[in-house]
Amino acid sequence: MRTDSRSIQAGTAQIYSFRIEHKTEALQKPTDQKADTMDMENSLAGWFDNAGERYMREALREARKAADADEVPVGAVVVYENRIIARAHNQVEMLNDATAHAEMIALTQASAHLNNWRLTDATLVVTKEPCPMCCGAMVNARLGAVIYGVPDERYGAARSGLNILENSVLNHRVQVTAGILADECRELLQVFFAKKRNK
Ligand SMILES: [Zn+2]
Repeated sequence: MRTDSRSIQAGTAQIYSFRIEHKTEALQKPTDQKADTMDMENSLAGWFDNAGERYMREALREARKAADADEVPVGAVVVYENRIIARAHNQVEMLNDATAHAEMIALTQASAHLNNWRLTDATLVVTKEPCPMCCGAMVNARLGAVIYGVPDERYGAARSGLNILENSVLNHRVQVTAGILADECRELLQVFFAKKRNK
């Protein structure tokens, strides 16, 4: 069977526009979010202590949406100028797409929001240490910083196994903060996989 490359391109464009539309849904209703979680302290000193945890709670909300949809519960938000500009959860099963990790979706959303693929001044907050694919995408997007919750000893590529985000071989390094609300992030995953095993 011959494959028409143009139809593949069209299909890919459709998938991407679907992904963006799907993901921006939540962003179109900013009033759903509590104001106090959107406006963070400007002081850099308090950022990781206070805002880091508060943004992680938003990422955890996303992760719970994934769990409710029977997806591996990982959630992410992207923060830019003290505001959340993207929020996403893992949708691999729903989209039938191995690349539909929370981080990938959130990066796509953030770039669409800023109309710029370079996310140099943005911070991505995610409940689990990102995998090699997502870390690669973060480097490609020139992401400023990533904050993650629980380490992933098997698939993590930020600190646990590979270190893609702070790799001197690559042309961009992403600032990494690990272990924010790690226990809550871990528990969500443990409960999910325990339920799966007992099914
Ligand atoms: Zn990933």
